[in-house]
Amino acid sequence: MPAQQPLAGQVALVTGGSRGIGLAIAARLGEMGARVAIAARDEKRLREAATTLRSRSLTVLPVPADVTDSSQVQHLVQTTRQELGEIEILVNNAGIGFFAPAHELAEADWDRVMATNLKSAFLCSRAVVPQMIRRRRGHVINISSLAGKNAFAGGGVYCASKWGLLGLTYCMAEDLRSYGIRVSVICPGSVQTEFSPHAGKDPGKMLQPEDVAHAVAMLVTQAPRSFISEVLLRPTQKP
Ligand code: NDP
Repeated sequence: MPAQQPLAGQVALVTGGSRGIGLAIAARLGEMGARVAIAARDEKRLREAATTLRSRSLTVLPVPADVTDSSQVQHLVQTTRQELGEIEILVNNAGIGFFAPAHELAEADWDRVMATNLKSAFLCSRAVVPQMIRRRRGHVINISSLAGKNAFAGGGVYCASKWGLLGLTYCMAEDLRSYGIRVSVICPGSVQTEFSPHAGKDPGKMLQPEDVAHAVAMLVTQAPRSFISEVLLRPTQKP
């Protein structure tokens, strides 16, 4: 296997792979030799992302799916399996932001953020992990945030979702480590994407989606005996 293609023969699924951090992760895993399925709701945008990746000679399968919906998650995982093979790398990246004081949130806002940022990781992991257990290997990588570690005004539901994702990650890591399945989490600081305006920050100093992709590449190339369970990712220059 060429050193540049350490993931040759492997299959990865990246949720929220149509743009931003997820697209950069899909590109990086593809460049490392993996066949990559990407999922998002906006089918047009997803297919454009797949076209971009294929123009770089990467093997990519776009599967439109809302990862908050268990039946769509089942379909996503089955389609990936049928078209590409068993999933060895699951990146739970899909997420949305919503920033307002908790006491001003509508119940629907709470439910939407928690479903997208937390429940989706549970649903996707539940759909993928049983076959990882049978094969006794796999990576589940959850994209949380430094907002899962640090409180700030207006962060109520977003921070709660990302804090919750940390708890899910740590417990799943304990459930699965003895099977050789590594469950880990990346907590980036602000990343320059369409996600939120990041008012007042210097985009030139902010983290870029490729920085998160680099952390994913690092996690999936570790020797089987150990795993980095958590990465806190910060820019060198404060934006
Ligand atoms: P973007 O808004 O650029 O991309 C989000 C992606 O998630 C899109 O592909 C979107 O596609 C998809 N998505 C959203 N909801 C769903 C859903 N219900 N089902 C399927 N796909 C969905 O965000 P980023 O790339 O910036 O963020 C990616 C992750 O990184 C998120 O979890 C975010 O919380 C986290 N993060 C981001 C930071 C930042 O500053 N940007 C910092 C730290 C963490 P579509 O809308 O078509 O469904």
